[in-house]
Amino acid sequence: MNRVIKSPTHGNRDKNSQMQGAQEPGANWADRQRYSPPAVDAKKLPASALKALYHTHRSKIQLRQTQQGLYFAVLVYLLFGAADVLLIPDVAMQTVTARLIVAISSMAVMGVLVARHVDLKWIDLSCAATVVMGYLAWLIPSTQTTAEDAFRYYMLFGTIFMMSANLFFNLVFRLSVLTSATILVIFLCSMLFSPPLSLGGSTVVVLFYISCFLFTSYVNWKLNKERYNVFLNAIEAAHQHNEAQKRGEALERLSNTDYLTGIENRRAIDRRLRDYWGAWTNDGTGFAAILVDVDFFKKYNDFYGHQAGDRCLILVANALQEALTPFNASLGRYGGEEFIVLAQLAKRDQVSTLAEVIRSTVERLNLVHDQRRDGQAVVTVSVGASYTRPNSGPKLERIIDEADRALYSAKANGRNCIRLFNPDDPLSSDDNENIASLLRMAVKKDLVKLVYQPIQNLRTGKLEAVEALMRLQMIDGTPISPGQFIPIAERTGSILELGLWAIRRVCTEMLAPGHIPLSSVNVSAIQLKSRGFALAVSTILEETGVKGERLAFEITEGIDMEGQSDVIRCIKDLEALGIRIWLDDFGTGFAGLSWLRLFPFDTVKIDRSFLQDTDQPHGRSMLEDIIRLVRNRGHKILIEGLETPDHVALMHELGIEHGQGFYLGRPAPVADFKDLAKLPAAVGR
Ligand code: C2E
Ligand code: MG
Ligand code: MG
Repeated sequence: MNRVIKSPTHGNRDKNSQMQGAQEPGANWADRQRYSPPAVDAKKLPASALKALYHTHRSKIQLRQTQQGLYFAVLVYLLFGAADVLLIPDVAMQTVTARLIVAISSMAVMGVLVARHVDLKWIDLSCAATVVMGYLAWLIPSTQTTAEDAFRYYMLFGTIFMMSANLFFNLVFRLSVLTSATILVIFLCSMLFSPPLSLGGSTVVVLFYISCFLFTSYVNWKLNKERYNVFLNAIEAAHQHNEAQKRGEALERLSNTDYLTGIENRRAIDRRLRDYWGAWTNDGTGFAAILVDVDFFKKYNDFYGHQAGDRCLILVANALQEALTPFNASLGRYGGEEFIVLAQLAKRDQVSTLAEVIRSTVERLNLVHDQRRDGQAVVTVSVGASYTRPNSGPKLERIIDEADRALYSAKANGRNCIRLFNPDDPLSSDDNENIASLLRMAVKKDLVKLVYQPIQNLRTGKLEAVEALMRLQMIDGTPISPGQFIPIAERTGSILELGLWAIRRVCTEMLAPGHIPLSSVNVSAIQLKSRGFALAVSTILEETGVKGERLAFEITEGIDMEGQSDVIRCIKDLEALGIRIWLDDFGTGFAGLSWLRLFPFDTVKIDRSFLQDTDQPHGRSMLEDIIRLVRNRGHKILIEGLETPDHVALMHELGIEHGQGFYLGRPAPVADFKDLAKLPAAVGR
């Protein structure tokens, strides 16, 4: 950044006065006090414009100086009356009276001029006239004196008037030279009426006057030039200061702006959040934090390309910005496809209205997105909101955390919807936080265990496999359902440790002792995406001595697998270890049929929801259709959720070989499987 050159004349300046060059000279005293030099680039201005600026500049800074200078000069002028009394006493009465008249009239004129805010040139002129009048008022009566000797020396003092015109008042050069020249001429004329001098004496006095005129005029010229240079420096300094300030402001703006969408970035939003939080804790002004996430944005990006993805974000940002204006809300980009809205709202009810405005605004944009897997074909957003409440707690992060949870819930509820964090919801905040911390110590504190649900060969009636299902309990023994803790484990990352723990536990307690030939384990997407997962699994197999063929990993359709080459690679590595890959809960997720294209799953588990209406013709035909489809693609079929003898009979009818459900066996601890028949030799250890 360029160094700012200090203005030699005025240090104080405020933003509003940067364009002072354009201001009228007749501005009032207060304006003149606040004046700072115009911040213009002198190099780009023609000389005439610079001169005009200089004139304005002078009028801003000079007026008070000139007025005060005049008062001071008048005072000295009056005091010189004493010299009159001493040196030319016979005409002192007249000179002192004349001095008084000039003093009073000049101060009165100055008072009127200042009061009328006249241009500086009139002030200058009045000063020049005062100087000339002052000289005349003293000179004319003095020439009548009889104290000739004293006067001959005393008249040399007339040069003081010249000096004051040239050096004391900062008059423009031409005016001051004209004034001092007038004094010189008056003096020369007065020589005719003054008491006579010798030739030598006259020559000395005239020469003294002329040299004084020349000398003070020269100094005056130099001073004026210097003043002009000082002015140029001052405007250059003001210009540089202005430029530096503008650059600073631009940098500040840049550091607070999202480079893509032009809205506030996370840094700016964090600051705003702190401000809002401050207002909330100080005077109870409530505010909402709303997180907005573009649904299936990765798919959009992958299919339409990154440029289109960027454009989509820009359009969403613009539309939201406009829609939020009436709410006086701030919009920022919080992450890749995540936006955040902060708004000070009087009531909690208004939060839902605002959240809905956000959701519907994006939907109304009608941006085509036919790659999403939920039947909709336009870009939409999921919205999670939270609102300050009396016991929000001492941390401002909490409100974002709550909005995040609400967003998570909006996503889990099918996206393109809004969710407002509800502190009264039993599954909300505190519970979830407890679960999250419970999960971190679950393995160490032995709070987690596995139960196994039988998977039966329906044709032979034999138990062929089990599905390992995780169970978590609180320290006091209260069970927590997987539907509640698995999503939290996924969100907090605990699933990585728990998932590996489950695989190892299945191997050690169920497979290695040979209780059952095959066990499936549910594997979450987070695990498949984590680096080194396949390697960790192979280590477990090696350490427990279990063959990979005895394990099946159930992957749910909810995972966004398409375009995730690392997930596919991981699945292939697992397959290479001999592990079978099953597709779980088929028919409930978003991917639908496209999933079957992606990977040659060994078995497809058809979700239990398809059994619901099988006593009705349309329900049954739906199940038949889905079975036909999976069968045609060559996958083995396993139907989940067989709860009644009718369900089993239906499976026989439809030729389904494998089933699982409460009717066939509920999830049970490993001990229940210990006494089962020995494994067929082929399965091996
Ligand atoms: P899932 O993998 O589809 O597991 C089957 C769920 O259906 C189990 O619920 C099981 O108890 C239940 N179920 C089995 N037969 C019937 C039936 O006849 N009727 C009804 N109504 N339900 C039946 P659970 O144990 O509550 O597990 C829920 C989900 O939690 C699992 O669904 C799975 O997605 C997840 N999960 C459980 N254990 C693990 C795990 O170790 N890792 C991961 N990543 N997810 C797990
Ligand atoms: Mg499962
Ligand atoms: Mg399932």
